Amino acid sequence: MSDCLFCKIVAGEIPSKKLYEDDLCYAFYDIDPQAPTHFLVIPKQHIPSAAAVTSENSAVVGHIFEVIAKLTRELGLESFRVVSNIGEQAGQSVFHLHFHVLAGRDMTWPPG
Ligand code: 5GP
Ligand code: ZN
Repeated sequence: MSDCLFCKIVAGEIPSKKLYEDDLCYAFYDIDPQAPTHFLVIPKQHIPSAAAVTSENSAVVGHIFEVIAKLTRELGLESFRVVSNIGEQAGQSVFHLHFHVLAGRDMTWPPG
């Protein structure tokens, strides 16, 4: 999608601090970290949010969770939180599916 910030990051049109990339997904550090470690994992394909996951595009979600397990293992993160905000009320500000991975501090529950 031409006017999507994260599609532009995937295309290299906007710089990012890359952590990992493969054919299906891209992982990069959040520009405004909310924890000592805070990165995002996104599908390369434009999917607006987790509410737009279907039987046609859901394989990438399982793949992203495999990548999250691999990256957190490699980074030595034994405890971390994975978050995906859906819709403005839940705090979504970029409408391209992404999973936040946060680690390195105590986390509260329920989330704010
Ligand atoms: P959301 O608010 O949609 O759940 O998450 C979007 C995230 O993208 C936010 O945590 C925000 O800091 C991050 N973000 C927004 N613009 C950029 C950018 O240009 N580069 C990077 N690396 N992260 C961004
Ligand atoms: Zn996009």
